[in-house]
Amino acid sequence: MENVISVDLEDWYHLVHLRDYAKNKTPQIQYSIQPILKLFKKYNTTTTFFVLGEIAEKNPEVIELINKDGHEIASHGYSHKPLWEISKEEFIEELEKTKSIVTKISKEKILGYRAPYFSISKERSWAIESLKEMNYKYDSSIFPLKIGSWYGDSSAPLNPYNPLNSDILKNNHDENFKEFPLTVFDKNEIRFPLAGGIYLRTYPFLIFKTLLKQVKKQGRSLFLFFHPWETHKNLIKLDVPFKNKFIVYYGIKGMLKKIEHLLKTYKFSSFRENLD
Ligand SMILES: [Zn+2]
Repeated sequence: MENVISVDLEDWYHLVHLRDYAKNKTPQIQYSIQPILKLFKKYNTTTTFFVLGEIAEKNPEVIELINKDGHEIASHGYSHKPLWEISKEEFIEELEKTKSIVTKISKEKILGYRAPYFSISKERSWAIESLKEMNYKYDSSIFPLKIGSWYGDSSAPLNPYNPLNSDILKNNHDENFKEFPLTVFDKNEIRFPLAGGIYLRTYPFLIFKTLLKQVKKQGRSLFLFFHPWETHKNLIKLDVPFKNKFIVYYGIKGMLKKIEHLLKTYKFSSFRENLD
């Protein structure tokens, strides 16, 4: 199986740490996407973009650019509300709405989904069930490590598996639906988050690289992610509490360089290519 470094396509005002402080929602995605596409092109890599329906609606030109470069376009829902804020019915509505907006632009079937804030858990197994019913082929929302009261489950499988409806953390070979859990380091039953995003941004890079190497030594594929806003040096700066400031803004300056290093070091492809 190949490594994947996917992109969750959302804008700064979709973040729960900023959304309540945002007086206006001025899109910046049209600026942050360019250097990312350029970087993927430089390393001859196509990947998976989990696209937010609202972005596709407001900035269709961004989806066209991604599509033109041959990347896979998958779904990140419509509003970026975590699943703990919405009902099953709203979840299905969001998926349908996003699909109709995005496929008009991409002209391709959407195969995969990633929940905002990795918010699919055992308590919300209805999400996996709904995805299967809606003919999705994979999900990449399971974070195999509990992160505070936020997300994740430390008993989740580390490697791709076929989730069972009655227990989405269990594997069932007969299911025609894949789960690609985000990469965490695991040794002697100690798990440590890697995954990308804030962890890639805030850890000393030497530590991040060393732990990734260990994961590869264990024969595992890397499933990493990042957001365009995390690479955008001129990201709109809001006066938010210190904790929010750290979570959103820390390490943005060095992020593209780190991603470039990963692209140089490992071979990456899309989730779609991993399905075959
Ligand atoms: Zn997101």
